[in-house]
Amino acid sequence: MPEKSDSRFFSLEYFPPREQAGRERLVGTTKQLLEIDPAYISVTYGAGGSTRSGTTETLLMVKELGHEAVPHIACIGSQPEEIIELLDFYKDKGVRRVVALRGDLPSGMGLSHSPLRYAVDLVRLIKEHSGDWFDISVAAYPEMHPQAGSFNDDIDHFVEKVRAGADAAITQYFYNIDAYWDFVNRVQAKGVDIPIIAGIMPITNYTQLARFSKMCGAEIPRWIAKRLESYGDDIESIRAFGHEVVTKMCDNLRSGGAAGIHFYSLNQAEPVLKIWRELEAK
Ligand code: FAD
Repeated sequence: MPEKSDSRFFSLEYFPPREQAGRERLVGTTKQLLEIDPAYISVTYGAGGSTRSGTTETLLMVKELGHEAVPHIACIGSQPEEIIELLDFYKDKGVRRVVALRGDLPSGMGLSHSPLRYAVDLVRLIKEHSGDWFDISVAAYPEMHPQAGSFNDDIDHFVEKVRAGADAAITQYFYNIDAYWDFVNRVQAKGVDIPIIAGIMPITNYTQLARFSKMCGAEIPRWIAKRLESYGDDIESIRAFGHEVVTKMCDNLRSGGAAGIHFYSLNQAEPVLKIWRELEAK
């Protein structure tokens, strides 16, 4: 993982496409991304098993095309034996990093009786079963996880994941840089010294962004929301403004010494390539 000062570190995230056309497009995206050589590409995992095979299929494609591929594992709704089987599968494929998450149960799905209730339980299971084979990243919430009782509780639960063996953290996306630095400072004051990679969502579609942000508790600052709203269906202007805002934010994070950037790519190469080329040209 990057040193704390390695602000040029960057990685990307994919979700497993449901349709064949999406899978084919993602092969093209993955080839395009070879140009900027991310540290790794991670692949999300549907809680409750909805996209489990999609995760492994996408992961193997990414690996075959020459990138380091990193699976997400969400534990809620799974039994320890299922997770162990998955860990052994990934180890067998030569995977050395995972992103360990609790996940969210699909609505209407009851919680099965499992000792894996929180991400910290998963981190402990990975350490217990696989020792130090996997480099483990966990999630962090600079604007607080939406279900947390309080900001302080959430921080304490995050610190617990680090003490259980997490090697790095990736934040939920944010557009308030101060929230990121406040989070980093607070957890460092509690002895956390792992890299906290800033999760960045390029802005390409306002309706979709507003919907995601409501679900995951990420705030779109009023000035950004109002500007994006004012463009209506003018996609070109939304993308141009989104690019300007996000590139400036990444530049500020890098110059401020952030531990790195993780792009929520939504399976698109172009927005990330454009941001990265501009940052590297500085
Ligand atoms: P946890 O760390 O377990 O925290 C969840 C909540 O429980 C928090 O409110 C926390 O404060 C609280 N908590 C933690 N421990 C305790 C405890 N001991 N007692 C009481 N409360 C506790 N979801 C997916 O389904 N698949 C993915 O691939 C995926 N990838 C993601 C990648 C990143 C980088 C991020 C930031 C999120 C991702 N998510 C994914 C979403 C994530 O699963 C949800 O946000 C989920 O609600 C919380 O997951 P967590 O790992 O942060 O959970």
